[in-house]
Amino acid sequence: MKKVLSLLLIIMLLCTVVITGCSNDGGDTADPTGGDNTSKDYLDDIAIAEVNQADKYRNYYQIWIGSFCDSNNDETGDIQGIISQLDYLNDGDPETDTDLGVNGIWLSPMMPSVSYHKYDVTDYYNIDEEFGTLEDFDQLIAECNKRGIRVVIDLVLNHISSRHPWFAKACEEVKAGNFDGYAKYFEFVKSNTMPGEGYRQVSGSDDLWYEGNFTYEMPDWNLSSEATREEFKKISKFWLDRGVSGFRLDAVKYFTNDHTDSVEFLEWYCSMCREIDPDVYIVGENWVGTGEIYETYKSGIDSQFAFKFGNTDGTFIMTAKSGNLGKKTINQMKRNIENIKENNPDAINAWFLTNHDMTRSANALKKLADRKMAAALYLLSPGCTFTYYGEELGIAAPNTTNDASYRTPMVWDSENLPDIYVPGVDGVEAPEQGGVKQQLENEDSLLNFYKRVFKIKNQNPEIARGTITDTVEFDDNAVGAYYVEYEGSKLLIIHNTATDSEKTLTITESIMKNSAIRGDLIAGDPATDAEGNTVKQEITLQDGQLVMPAQSTVILKAE
Ligand code: CA
Repeated sequence: MKKVLSLLLIIMLLCTVVITGCSNDGGDTADPTGGDNTSKDYLDDIAIAEVNQADKYRNYYQIWIGSFCDSNNDETGDIQGIISQLDYLNDGDPETDTDLGVNGIWLSPMMPSVSYHKYDVTDYYNIDEEFGTLEDFDQLIAECNKRGIRVVIDLVLNHISSRHPWFAKACEEVKAGNFDGYAKYFEFVKSNTMPGEGYRQVSGSDDLWYEGNFTYEMPDWNLSSEATREEFKKISKFWLDRGVSGFRLDAVKYFTNDHTDSVEFLEWYCSMCREIDPDVYIVGENWVGTGEIYETYKSGIDSQFAFKFGNTDGTFIMTAKSGNLGKKTINQMKRNIENIKENNPDAINAWFLTNHDMTRSANALKKLADRKMAAALYLLSPGCTFTYYGEELGIAAPNTTNDASYRTPMVWDSENLPDIYVPGVDGVEAPEQGGVKQQLENEDSLLNFYKRVFKIKNQNPEIARGTITDTVEFDDNAVGAYYVEYEGSKLLIIHNTATDSEKTLTITESIMKNSAIRGDLIAGDPATDAEGNTVKQEITLQDGQLVMPAQSTVILKAE
C-alpha cells in the first residue's frame, strides 16, 4: 500500500511538472467528462489489453515538432516541449482515462537542416539545434519507454540537402572529371541536354546534371550505389541503437529511376534494418495508386499509408460527409487488406485522415458529428492508425494555399494561444470547441470522442490486429458491418453513417449468437424532444433488436 501511495505521489508530482512545463498548458484534467458522462460500465469493466511491447499494431500520433509545444519560448516547438506533453498522449497508467490513449509517435523530420520543414538534411546523425540535442532525444525515448509509446522517426532517404558537405564535394569532383568519389552517392549525368525529368544543372557547369526530383536544394541519393547503402546502414543503426522503434520513409514514390527499382531497394533496406532490430517497424509514404502500393508490399515493408482512404477527398471523409457507407465501401476496405496481405502476409495497413501535406480534415468536415464519424471509421479499421496532431481537436488550416498552413500550432488552451512561428501564417485560430484544456472539460468534445475510440481499441485488441473475415449486409446504404477475427476471438463492427436517421437492425443468431455490446460510439448530435430538451442518444440491443442512432458505431462480441 505504501508503495502504491508513493507511486501515486510521484504521478501527482509528475502531473504538476507537466502542467507547468509547457507555457501554454494548464488546468485540471482530473475529471474531463464532468461527472455525468456517457461511459458505460463495460468500458470500465474491460481491462486495457496488455500487448507485447514489440507489437507493431499501434495508435500512432504524428507530431510536427516545430508546432507542437515550445518549452523555451523561442517561438519554435521542441523536443523538451514534446516531453512535457507526453502525459496528454499516454500517461502509461491503464487505470486512468485522462490521456488520449495513443501508443506510438511519428516525429516529423528533426535532423539538422536549413529549411523550415527539415526534409533536406545536412547531418543525419544529429538533432537540429532549434529542436534540442541528442541528450534531449535520449530523454524523450526514455520517457516514451516508461509509457509504452513507440517512437518512429521520419527518415529522408530519397534526397539530401544541397548544403550537405558531401554534395558540395561531389560537385567539385565531377567538375574536375572525377565520378568515382563522392559522386557515387548521387545521380550525376554528363549530357549536353537535360537527361530527363527531375534533373538539375550543376552550378557552374554546362553539361553536368544531377537528379533532384523536388528542388535544386534537394539532390537525390543514388539508391543503387553500394556506398550509399553502406551509409544508410550506418544511419539506421545509429537511430535504432538510440532506441527508435522504426522509420517513416519519406517520398518512396521517387525511389524508382532507370537503374533503381523501389521494390528491390526496400527489400534490401527492410531486411538490413531487421538484422539490426528484428522488431523494427517501417512505414512508407508512397503517394501513388493502390495498384502500385500493392506491388511495393512485395518488398516486405511493414506498412504504407492508405492514400486512397485518406485525404480530404478520400473514402473516410467522403463517407462521413455523405452518410453513404454501405456494403460497397466495406468490401473495398476488405479487398484492400486482402490485396496487401497477398503481397506480404505480415503487412499492416496504415490508415489516416490527413497529414502535414494535406488540407486539414476539419476544413473538409465542417460538422462536429461528421468529424466524429470519420474518426470512428478510420480508427476502427484493422491495422495501424496515424492521427495528425490537432486532428483530435478539429484544428483547421487557416488557408489552403501554403503547406505551412496545415502545420499551425497545437492549441493546448484556447484562452492562451501559443506564440509559435509558422511561415506565411499570421496568428492562430482556436478550433470551435477550444483547445485541449477546454475540450477535456466538455463531455461532447471531439477530443473526448477520440479518447473513447482509443479506449475501446485498447480494450479490444481484435480491432487493430484482426483481419476482416466477412461482411454483413443489412440492405441499407448507410450501414456497413464487418467481422474482425484475431486469435480465435471475433467482433462485429457496425457503423450507421446516416446523418439523420436512427436504424433498427435485427441481429439474428446466424449473424452473431448471444451478442453483447462491447463498445459504442455516438458521433451524431444529441436529439431534442417536443419540448426542445436535449435527449441523450443511446445504442441498445434487446432481443436481437439493435437500435443505432444517426451516425453511430457499435462493437458486438458473443458472450
Ligand atoms: Ca523552443
